[in-house]
Amino acid sequence: MAQSKHIIIVGAGPGGLCAGMLLSHRGFKVSVYDKHAEVGGRNRAIQLGDFRFDTGPTFLLMKDVLDEMFRLCDRNSEDYLQFQALNPMYKLQYDDRELSVYSDRDNMSAELERVFDEGSAGYLRFMDKERQRFNKLYPCITREYSSWTSLLSLDLFKAIPWLAFPKSVFANLGQYFSQEKMRLAFCFQSKYLGMSPWDCPALFTMLPYLEHDYGLYHVNGGLNQIAHAMANVIVENGGSIHTGSEVASLIIENRSVKGIKLSNGEEIRGDEVVINADFAHAMTHLVAKDQLQKYSPASLQKRDYSCSTFMLYLGLDKVYDLPHHTIAFAKDYRTNIKNIFASKTLSSDLSFYVHNPSVKDPGLAPAGKSALYVLVPMPNNDADLDWDSHCQSVREQVLDTLGERLGLTDIREHIEAEKIITPLNWERDENVYKGATFSLAHKFSQMLYWRPHNQFEELDNCYLVGGGTHPGSGLPTIYESARISSNLISKKHAVSYKHIPQNTWLKKA
Ligand SMILES: Cc1cc2nc3c(=O)[nH]c(=O)nc-3n(C[C@H](O)[C@H](O)[C@H](O)COP(=O)(O)OP(=O)(O)OC[C@H]3O[C@@H](n4cnc5c(N)ncnc54)[C@H](O)[C@@H]3O)c2cc1C
Repeated sequence: MAQSKHIIIVGAGPGGLCAGMLLSHRGFKVSVYDKHAEVGGRNRAIQLGDFRFDTGPTFLLMKDVLDEMFRLCDRNSEDYLQFQALNPMYKLQYDDRELSVYSDRDNMSAELERVFDEGSAGYLRFMDKERQRFNKLYPCITREYSSWTSLLSLDLFKAIPWLAFPKSVFANLGQYFSQEKMRLAFCFQSKYLGMSPWDCPALFTMLPYLEHDYGLYHVNGGLNQIAHAMANVIVENGGSIHTGSEVASLIIENRSVKGIKLSNGEEIRGDEVVINADFAHAMTHLVAKDQLQKYSPASLQKRDYSCSTFMLYLGLDKVYDLPHHTIAFAKDYRTNIKNIFASKTLSSDLSFYVHNPSVKDPGLAPAGKSALYVLVPMPNNDADLDWDSHCQSVREQVLDTLGERLGLTDIREHIEAEKIITPLNWERDENVYKGATFSLAHKFSQMLYWRPHNQFEELDNCYLVGGGTHPGSGLPTIYESARISSNLISKKHAVSYKHIPQNTWLKKA
């Protein structure tokens, strides 16, 4: 039965690949199309000579969710991927101090006692209460919300007080920590959603909690290896992956999606189309202007989007003594946040993140050399900044900042290979609407039932996966979007699939 149903997937990013893996395992005929030459989307590898980088994701949180996706395909993720748990997880660099962040309570408490006057009592309360919040909210967040009746659930009703609405993550942390710099250690993670900690809803305090209770992982070869592993499972299951194949439009007849048309004019018909391309990009580029109402180009233009990023990938003929992950706060963090999110201007004082994986994973750079990835949060393209003219000056500013803040004063002399991605490149080359690298903002009016539904509400035979749909951006939630859409498609075609108890990995409150 399933073999006779053809599922077309637009985009080989984490959402599309995970859906392809689940659906091909259930016997559907799966064909994945991606415009790039390699799979992975924002999660694919960048190869510069002998240096290898991840394009985007470098923090693997909630490894258990990834493991669950492989188990649903009767596979073990560890047969495909080699994981390294990181402890310490990362270093935080303030203007006046440094904090190493550990995933175990003893080391973390000792480090907080060393660095902050207020010590570690608040951290221990944070861990206990945020575990309760996460356990209540996560099962609700990862359900399907394609109809308003899905909101009528007792679990969701009971979880409402845990939303701490309308507080922000920063405000929520006030119950545990008094010093602003202490709070920053537990709220900068709002940037994983491309949001300011002063706007990001309090429920996302789950992000720092998750790191501290479940740890962070590196994958040997980079997190891009997850995309390759998923692509391998699709092929093992008889599915096909067509890279270098840009989709020009969806074939729509009577409000029902019948297939896709490629840029070379070829038409491919299928029973269902799963869209993994960035949601707002897909709806404004693959669908004719008058086909959509709720998500018309004008309505998409008005919605709120995440910030963007300026990326610098450096192949260096030197190894610096840097941790695997370093996050540096601008000296005046509040002003930097205002520049990115409110005034949408460039900052003279930058916050940034540096990934130095080749020390733990020597395959990423030749011996004695290193592959350094630098991410600088920037306004999205609502800012209308002329990136063609700003690109080089921002590059110089970033290199100066690495010298000043991390002591890499000689870095320019050691660059052998280099690539830059600006907010304009995200939009133009990576098909990310407004260059908003973390998709639609995660504010309440754009979440759950109010985020684009996994079974797309405006077109039949059309399903959504990826950061721009429910539950939202970040690898684990993107995998959950793939699970939700795959289950909806399987139910529609009466195809039975393996059920495993979900969320058994949640730690007891
Ligand atoms: C810089 C950065 C850092 C991040 N860091 C982390 C992190 O550490 N941890 C984490 O969990 N998450 C992180 N994320 C967020 C998120 O996990 C990734 O962005 C993730 O790759 C998004 O997956 P996706 O499935 O939404 O689709 P994408 O990765 O965007 O993939 C979509 C695919 O669709 C393809 N496509 C688009 N249009 C077309 C078309 N017309 N025809 C054919 N193909 C098309 C694209 O080529 C792309 O391959 C990060 C994101 C960025 C940008």
